[in-house]
Amino acid sequence: MTTKATGKQGKGAEERLQELGYRLTPQRSMVLSAIEGSPDHISTEEIYEQVKAKYPNVNISTVYRTLELLRELGMVTQTDLGEGRVRYHPAERGHHHHLICSRCGRIFELDESLLYPLKEALLREYGFMADLRHLAIFGRCRDCQG
Ligand SMILES: [Zn+2]
Ligand SMILES: [Zn+2]
Repeated sequence: MTTKATGKQGKGAEERLQELGYRLTPQRSMVLSAIEGSPDHISTEEIYEQVKAKYPNVNISTVYRTLELLRELGMVTQTDLGEGRVRYHPAERGHHHHLICSRCGRIFELDESLLYPLKEALLREYGFMADLRHLAIFGRCRDCQG
């Protein structure tokens, strides 16, 4: 396999996909731009709605397959925020964690560095290399503890 040097900085996900030898179908391109264009986490259903608006014939299983591929390639992260469905981020925006109140449903964002000590302890004590990139931690918020 050869690697083409494009000499371009800040390559987009689309180019990376093609470099890895995947065909950039219109559907894949739409799924990618839906995730990258979303200011917040986006669900499979929301991605599907966006793709369908442009390609009415698209099947939701195509969207699922594309998301699976992007996840395997490490281009998106997914988290279950306790709604019974997962939500997606572009990988580079996944550097945070969430505290989710299981009573009122409020979601607070945490900086990823807060869990560095845990990551180090897991490696030291268990030799386990944890992928702590985008976690959801469930519990009770301050208002809901009374
Ligand atoms: Zn998140
Ligand atoms: Zn609460």
